[in-house]
Amino acid sequence: MDITLMPYAFFEGEIVPSDNAKVSIATHALQYGTGAFGGIRGYLDKSGTAINIFRLPDHVGRLLQSGLMLRAELPMGPEDVKNAITELVKKNAPDRNVYIRPLIYKAGIVLSPKLTGIRDDLAIYMIPLDDYVDLSAPLKLMVSSWQRVEDNIIPSRGKITGAYINSSFAKDQATEGGYDDAIMLNREGKVSEGSGANLFLVRNGTLITSPVTADILEGITRRSLVEFARDLGVPVEERAIDRSELYVADEIFLCGTGVQIAAVGSIDGRQIADGQRGTITKHLQDVYFSLVRGEDSPYSHYVTKIPIG
Ligand code: PMP
Repeated sequence: MDITLMPYAFFEGEIVPSDNAKVSIATHALQYGTGAFGGIRGYLDKSGTAINIFRLPDHVGRLLQSGLMLRAELPMGPEDVKNAITELVKKNAPDRNVYIRPLIYKAGIVLSPKLTGIRDDLAIYMIPLDDYVDLSAPLKLMVSSWQRVEDNIIPSRGKITGAYINSSFAKDQATEGGYDDAIMLNREGKVSEGSGANLFLVRNGTLITSPVTADILEGITRRSLVEFARDLGVPVEERAIDRSELYVADEIFLCGTGVQIAAVGSIDGRQIADGQRGTITKHLQDVYFSLVRGEDSPYSHYVTKIPIG
């Protein structure tokens, strides 16, 4: 089903009606996947008068870094991109939770698959979005037979549009097999990440996640949860994870802006511990949700409040 865009988008340097934000079929990014994107949630504040965005400067920073990998030359710096997002949120003045999708893309009409000498641009759209993963039921995952794209092929560290075909292969295989999502292994056979989320597991009270050199996207949620867990006194290890460690873990969850924090109940048909959401998963969910929804939190400095209406 197609998604419905909010009325206004940012396109070619200005805010325009979303219906007018259109590109040519010959656009380089459409032909070759030469774009880099971000995925940012905006949570409606309980006052109803603001949209809360978690770690906006970090999202903008990663977007621009991904653009750098594509050798994008944008006439906009981090402040300009943050302002464009802020102005767009104000213009759309949503009365519910939203998702904001900025995209740096090769906007020129150039035939050759290359990165330089092509006009780059930034586009941003917004959609209404609540939980799209049912957080009350632990997820059923499978280890995909699709291998994670590696750094010397298409860097997962950059959120590069074309690379998401890799995620799509894995996601389709999983859903058609009756699972909710896939876990991908990297070329070394170690656990990389989900199709659109990072993975954590708990063993003997220690929280473990793959290192940034495991062909993962350097998730902003992942980075935050490492900090929250350490503050809760939970030891954290960032190290290579074997596939079989998944089967014997005490807890597993996926995390990311989109999925938020979603407990995993089984992998490859093997139940994880008692199959229910674990204690550390629940603690981290509590910290995360109260923060992103704009409630009082020791991490409130991570939230940008954009007044609306
Ligand atoms: N990995 C992949 C492949 C993703 O697409 C995402 C979603 N952006 C994540 C991890 C999680 O990243 P973040 O916490 O920054 O949203």
